[in-house]
Amino acid sequence: MCRRAQGESTGLSAAPTRGKPTPMMVVEEHLVASAEAYPSRRRDEIVGVVVHRIEVSQEDPGYGDTASEVARFFAEHPLGRTATGGKMPYTVLVDRTGAVTQCVPLLRITPHAKSHNPTTVGVGVIGDFRTQAPPEPQRLGALQLVAALVRELNLSAQAVHGHDELNDASHDPNKECPGRRWVMSEFRADVAALLASETLGPLPFLW
Ligand SMILES: [Zn+2]
Repeated sequence: MCRRAQGESTGLSAAPTRGKPTPMMVVEEHLVASAEAYPSRRRDEIVGVVVHRIEVSQEDPGYGDTASEVARFFAEHPLGRTATGGKMPYTVLVDRTGAVTQCVPLLRITPHAKSHNPTTVGVGVIGDFRTQAPPEPQRLGALQLVAALVRELNLSAQAVHGHDELNDASHDPNKECPGRRWVMSEFRADVAALLASETLGPLPFLW
């Protein structure tokens, strides 16, 4: 089951969001319970955040496009298990409503960007942004999540990358991730602007 970890006094709900959707942070406890299966790292080893697209219904229509279904796909489905050995590749997921789910603690290494795994946090945005732009609530949820993450890690917006912007980050050199409709240069600029605005409340990240 999920536990809502956002408190009224500490979460983004306390920030002046001017009527914009507020991301809801959830910790997936059943995945956190298996955190020991993931190698650990120090906080100062993390130098970046990597944005991905993920839509498991494309691989198998028996799976839905929600955070728990993405987790189930990588834990149980032969294609998912072949890709990651049964591990969840994304530390955090953002669904279409903008709700944020943390699946793995920040100091655990997940298999999401090959040689960059030990030094980056993988953010999985649910959808396919090769052909469709994200719904606005989802874009805002991802924006607030990534900005809060960057600040928590003492990084800057320049430390945010799309998966296919990195070298040696995929076994498929033609992989388009997160996709041309998720414009990374604009997203980085939005992250920088949100950080500069100082209106962003903390999110309850699990370390
Ligand atoms: Zn990716």
